[in-house]
Amino acid sequence: MASPSLIPAHFIVFFVVSRLMSILGNLRPSKNSLPCEIDSLGVHAKLRYDLDAIGLASTDYGNIVHEIPSAVLYPTSIDDIIELIKFSNECPLPFNVAARGHGHSVRGQAMAHDGVVVNMLSLKKHYKNGNGIRVSTSGNYADVGGEQLWIDVLNATLEHGLAPLSWTDYLYLTVGGTLSNAGFSGQTFLYGPQISNVLELDVITGKGDFMTCSKDQNSELFYAVLGGLGLFGIITRARIVLAKAPKRVKWVRMIYSDFSIFTRDQEHLISTKGLEYLEGSLLMDYTPANNWRSSFFSPSNESQIISLLKKHGILYCLDVVKYYDDETTNSVDKDVQMLQEGLNFIPGFTFMRDETYVDFLNRVRRGEITLKSKGLWDVPNPWLNLLVPKSRILDFNAGVFVDIIHRQKKTTGPLLVFPLTKIVWDDKMSAVVPDEDIFYSVGLLHSGSFNDWQDLDNQNNEILEFCDRAGIKMKQYLPHYKSKEEWIKHFGPKWNTFQERKAQFDPRMILSPGQNIFNYV
Ligand code: FAD
Repeated sequence: MASPSLIPAHFIVFFVVSRLMSILGNLRPSKNSLPCEIDSLGVHAKLRYDLDAIGLASTDYGNIVHEIPSAVLYPTSIDDIIELIKFSNECPLPFNVAARGHGHSVRGQAMAHDGVVVNMLSLKKHYKNGNGIRVSTSGNYADVGGEQLWIDVLNATLEHGLAPLSWTDYLYLTVGGTLSNAGFSGQTFLYGPQISNVLELDVITGKGDFMTCSKDQNSELFYAVLGGLGLFGIITRARIVLAKAPKRVKWVRMIYSDFSIFTRDQEHLISTKGLEYLEGSLLMDYTPANNWRSSFFSPSNESQIISLLKKHGILYCLDVVKYYDDETTNSVDKDVQMLQEGLNFIPGFTFMRDETYVDFLNRVRRGEITLKSKGLWDVPNPWLNLLVPKSRILDFNAGVFVDIIHRQKKTTGPLLVFPLTKIVWDDKMSAVVPDEDIFYSVGLLHSGSFNDWQDLDNQNNEILEFCDRAGIKMKQYLPHYKSKEEWIKHFGPKWNTFQERKAQFDPRMILSPGQNIFNYV
């Protein structure tokens, strides 16, 4: 595969634009597929059919799938969304509706072929009071619009010295978008995914009903929507748990050459008290030690790592973070030292950074800015995210990391692997995880070019086939399947409940067609 970094930025921008233009053709969104009565609705004036609106709604971070909607709604209030969904329900042949958060899906999940995409970010501009993020007087929670970006939630809550507990690695994602999947990162082993840190939701169901739900009120809707892939309703408000925010972090990276020792230490660390974040990643001898997602190593550290890579071929990085503030500033180094006691990383290969809490949480943004400046952000990103049961993670390493990825040397993107604990996930929610107490999040974050991303996707298929053959009962995160059978297998024992909830909250199957679940049923 040609490394994207060899391609000039202006060429890539030109390529993306011309490719999109060719996909959209003489862009004539098939407005005809919407009933003409739509023109008499109050929201009529907020529907857009122009190239900019349609172009944006038919692309996403993945840059692989492009579905052209008939129109895009730019709502100024949640009543606009209610009116649109109710209208679709009244039509003899309802049209599809998809909420689009920040469009950071990788397989067209927020698109709506011939339907209407709701540009949720449009709501941000229309708050009469405040900015859509309200911190409670008790300080225990914030009420946040579903269209809000997590970076804005962080900044608004920090003004009160508070912050949510559970994060994603990247903060330019909407609250509604991550809660529709799960939302996890290095804090998740301790605090649970973002869907486990929600107290209450306001949701517009697929019938157009506006409902408030929680564990105690309309609980079936609450559990359906969390991890529900946008299929049951559109989240317009989430009540997110808050806690006192730390000021700074000690971020430690330790290097391993043996995967079984690496995972043993990871599992040991998540079972002990004292750290707030744990992740892991792989370094390969054919890629640079720093990548866009993490430029952790200084130039001198980097050359040390490169010589180690020459010897071992693959290295494993274990990242842990300890939060601290004024009261704990004197003890934090000692605490970090204690956490490292008994760990078996390669002697001398431990590196530490000291950062503000905000810089640490917002670390991936730095990589995004660099990639954007080189024109390398808006390229095809055929990511594969898996949750692999702990009992098979060594087989996964041998069969996938070593025998497929390292042998083929195709992917240059970040490769993540770190353990999560099932106890902090609520099984009543729609999100699906493997049936073991500990499972590993594996993120194969490939980036390709418009000519060769298919090569990486073929490798993804090889990985999925390997897991199938080896009987590794992994689950896809941010799943995408083409057939009903695959979806039924994905949901396993949850499938019947999933279907029943769909019939209850979106009986005409209007919402989230880009997930390709009920379109095939
Ligand atoms: P969109 O892509 O716009 O939408 C995703 C789905 O949610 C669609 O089906 C859409 O219809 C639905 N949806 C959107 N808004 C709403 C709403 N208000 N109500 C109901 N449904 C809605 N995930 C993690 O868990 N951890 C990570 O660390 C992480 N890092 C990432 C880093 C990058 C650079 C990228 C591109 C993605 C990352 N993701 C991560 C994945 C990300 O969480 C999901 O792709 C998420 O859906 C993106 O949010 P979005 O606002 O862009 O959603």
